[in-house]
Amino acid sequence: MRGDLSLFELTERFPDEASAIARFEALRWGDDLKDAHCPKCGSVDVAKWKTKRRLPLWNCHDCGHQFTVTSGTVMDHTMLPLRKWLLAFHLIGGSKKGVSARYLARTLSVTPKTAWHLGHRIRSAMTDPDKKVTGIVETDETYIGGKRKHVGKGYRKNKIAVQTIIKRSTQRTLGTSQTMALNSAENVDGRTLGAKLRTHTIPSKTILMTDELAAYEAPGSHFKDHHTVNHKKEEYVRQDGDGHLAHTNTAEGFFGNLKRQIHGTHHHVSKKHLPRYLEEFDYKYNTRDVDDGTRTVAAMKRIGTAKRVTLYKTKPGVDSLFDRSRPSDKPKRKRPKARRPVRKSRRPRPRKRGPRYGPTHDE
Ligand SMILES: [Zn+2]
Repeated sequence: MRGDLSLFELTERFPDEASAIARFEALRWGDDLKDAHCPKCGSVDVAKWKTKRRLPLWNCHDCGHQFTVTSGTVMDHTMLPLRKWLLAFHLIGGSKKGVSARYLARTLSVTPKTAWHLGHRIRSAMTDPDKKVTGIVETDETYIGGKRKHVGKGYRKNKIAVQTIIKRSTQRTLGTSQTMALNSAENVDGRTLGAKLRTHTIPSKTILMTDELAAYEAPGSHFKDHHTVNHKKEEYVRQDGDGHLAHTNTAEGFFGNLKRQIHGTHHHVSKKHLPRYLEEFDYKYNTRDVDDGTRTVAAMKRIGTAKRVTLYKTKPGVDSLFDRSRPSDKPKRKRPKARRPVRKSRRPRPRKRGPRYGPTHDE
């Protein structure tokens, strides 16, 4: 199937729920569903049952596990029609500056909370595994967070430091980015920035480009070569004797676009959920040479392997957007027992009259 589909073509090609379900099944298990297997035991001895359920039910002949196309994927336990999922994937995958939860809610006729959860689940399918890069690599850091009144311009206590490690494009290969938020316990110093550099690069094969920040000096010494430009002295690009262009303009440009998405589309991103937005942005940056449809389909193919993000806490190991259990899981408060009024006297109670049987006087 051709990767690039416009939203109009999408609605024509997948006019009903059955076609959307078939699309997700084909993406997960391949055309003709030949790779269909049990998510619990991995057996390929599975069969599709004919039921009147919303999603077709599959049965494993080995372990008896019953599953659907969404089981064990980022779409697990979804109550939404898969057509809405399909549209949401294409809206987020095809947007250059991201899609806000509110816009998603209006477009798909769902509540804002559902749309927000949906957006994060799709973002989790866009997560790239950590990889090590070599070649010419730029690194830089920025601060994301709003302005505060009555404090100086350099006030950063309400902001989150974000570091990016960008491999520059060459004539043959496309440059890639890996961006991470530093958590509040980490200081922006040589130890932290250096640790991230060691995780994501191979220093002996990497030429590092940074700005004049002193924290890069110590980690930079372990690299094959380390070039710095001094932004404070208004030095932005320098041709060095070994033929390398010393600059961090790729990283600066990347941050410029990232901040446009955060300020212009989302307006506010919390500390807790920022990493997932960064991953969406990295994914789009790293697939910028393919068309929107191909990028979206590639993300949709990962639904089975991506990490699940649940709205409420379910079990350890699964990311939850809210740090509390489902409201319905809370123990119900017992109603206090009504006290029997204390009788004043100990006189025996008058016996209650039972129902009268027989003819009454009215008749
Ligand atoms: Zn099984």
